Amino acid sequence: MAAPARSQSSLNFVLVIHGGAGVIPKEDLTPEKEKATRATLDAALLAGHSVLARGGKSLDAVIAAIKILEDSPLFNAGKGSVLTAEGTVGMDASIMDGATHKAGACADVKHVKNPIELARLVMDKTPHVLLAGDGAERLAKEHGLQLMSADYFITEHRKLQLLRIQKQAMEKARKAGEKKVQANSLESIGTVGAVALDKHGNLAAGTSTGGMVNKRFGRVGDSPIIGAGTYAHNLTCAVSGTGHGEFFLRGVVCYDIAAKMEYQGVALTNAADDVVMRKLKDAGGRGGVIALDTKGNVAMPFNTEGMYRGVIRADGKPWTAIRKE
Ligand code: ASP
Repeated sequence: MAAPARSQSSLNFVLVIHGGAGVIPKEDLTPEKEKATRATLDAALLAGHSVLARGGKSLDAVIAAIKILEDSPLFNAGKGSVLTAEGTVGMDASIMDGATHKAGACADVKHVKNPIELARLVMDKTPHVLLAGDGAERLAKEHGLQLMSADYFITEHRKLQLLRIQKQAMEKARKAGEKKVQANSLESIGTVGAVALDKHGNLAAGTSTGGMVNKRFGRVGDSPIIGAGTYAHNLTCAVSGTGHGEFFLRGVVCYDIAAKMEYQGVALTNAADDVVMRKLKDAGGRGGVIALDTKGNVAMPFNTEGMYRGVIRADGKPWTAIRKE
């Protein structure tokens, strides 16, 4: 079933979410797990919808939706984040306000229960855009954000995933006669993001992730980088990306979509399709985006096998999909 069309209602508010793009190994997505994943996507959509329906801000809707996904062990953000090559967690998140063009982000945090809330704090409470590591965690502490021990974030599933991927990487390196094993596996579906348009006509975007499995300790991807992994401006669109971060960084993917709209007058869907299905793909980058404009048009292109995604409009009926439809 196709995503619900743009509504003609004056209450033209919309929330779009993603739960990551990538390969979906059959053994990973059992019918039970698919059911649980879709139920969590529904819960995130409904949480954001309730903010928007009562006239709340798109920024608050984005945070409400992302928090639900961060708290679920099923997604690669917050609890359930993927593991670094050393078996630790390092989380990145960002948020951007389309009305004010303000943005906040945090990178490589290890104890903050909801990194998206910390991104908001960076935006609201500091003159900066991005705080990393200990400095970011200090801000979280100063403002009473919930901090957790490292164990809280690490699930059994992620431990097994890391072992499997390290074994595969070693095998590959052995066959190729290489001494060095390549870090950074693409098998990392589960990053989360949201874009919203509120009743006041304002856009917002946010993204949160544990990054890529088997990444080097200290590696930071595209998700906390404004323009690469997240972007919002009322003039054009709100975008959140997911996929191989290094390619999103080099292609400044989310901003590229907005730039096509601004400078070439290209419509949202065409701009998002061109960037994800042609430019990113031709460069060798795998992933997808969710994008939304101030008219409520939605684009969700991905060049991978699947992308967990969902849309909810004023009628309050959540729509979700995983593979191509
Ligand atoms: N883009 C994220 C990163 O590279 C990972 C993902 O979206 O799956 O950190």
